[in-house]
Amino acid sequence: MQVTAPESIDVARVLLIDDQAIVGEALKRMVESEPDIELRFCMDPTRAMNEAIEFRPTVILQDLIMPDVDGLVLLRFFRANPITKTTPIVVLSSKEDPRTKQEAFKLGATDYLVKFPDQLEVVARIRAHSRSYLAQQQRDEAYRELRDLQVELEKKNSELQRLSSLDGLTGIANRRRFDEYLEQEWLRAARDGKRLALILIDIDHFKAYNDNYGHQGGDLCLKQVARVLDSELKRAADVAARYGGEEFVIVLPDTDLQGAGVIAEKLRNAVEALHIEHANSKTAPHVTISLGVASTLPRDGGIPAALIEMADEALYKAKESGRNQLCLSENTTVKGVI
Ligand code: GH3
Ligand code: MG
Ligand code: MG
Repeated sequence: MQVTAPESIDVARVLLIDDQAIVGEALKRMVESEPDIELRFCMDPTRAMNEAIEFRPTVILQDLIMPDVDGLVLLRFFRANPITKTTPIVVLSSKEDPRTKQEAFKLGATDYLVKFPDQLEVVARIRAHSRSYLAQQQRDEAYRELRDLQVELEKKNSELQRLSSLDGLTGIANRRRFDEYLEQEWLRAARDGKRLALILIDIDHFKAYNDNYGHQGGDLCLKQVARVLDSELKRAADVAARYGGEEFVIVLPDTDLQGAGVIAEKLRNAVEALHIEHANSKTAPHVTISLGVASTLPRDGGIPAALIEMADEALYKAKESGRNQLCLSENTTVKGVI
């Protein structure tokens, strides 16, 4: 007899649990000419769970009345086990009893057959249940993979985001991040009616440092200075960034000029305390910084660039006045500075 090709290449693995050998024989005969149905017969219901875990059936056919084990209890066990939780279970019974059926469905049975059903019907039901089970498995698997990919993608994105806002040499915030952060804090301060302060920092005689200790020596010095500036800031909202070259900038939300001046002095001290030798400096035998400090009330108008300009002018004055010092912007208290 020509075997009709199954519609799906998926093989149905059927676990039959029944204490009667004759039922096993009958079922074996029913499916032996079906190449897509693989049958395993378990006559000992106490071994049924182990068999299921090992065989991973796509359909379980299970007798309800057996010695030693109550079929309904076994059904409950299958449903409680993660491996067989969703496996279709067709219960077999010798009598057509609505109450038993109702009970079986309540405990999670998928279908119900009265022994012995017609061969065509058994095969059709096995295929239908097996297919919908396998399709569901595939959907679950695809969903899991998709979720894993999403998690992976989110991780990569946030890592990318992090990297794109950090300076490659020093590891502190870069110019891009500074621009973003200043804009954000400017708007927040304007909304809340708070002040916003800025400290511009420039390493003194850094060209001479490079000339003396080489570019790599210069890079190392930049890293050390960046680290100490960053670590001296204690409030989470205070951000240190590399402004460019040997210049750094500190954003201090909700800080007035005097407060920013105190922090600037702390930073100047901290850099001096590093005692990085600078033999060619005209200011000190070690690396020093000059700082320009400004603070404004963004609510009164102006633009972030004006605050930078104020700090820059103050920095210029600190340089003019002999370096290794800070200068407070005179414009700071002026309303709507541009
Ligand atoms: P001043 O005290 O007036 O600030 O003098 P200066 O020599 O520090 O200022 P100047 O602007 O003349 O020189 C800055 C130097 O910083 C020149 C440049 O080679 C060096 N520089 C800028 N970026 C880097 C960098 O990423 N690595 C190193 N090693 N040097 C850098
Ligand atoms: Mg400079
Ligand atoms: Mg400099």
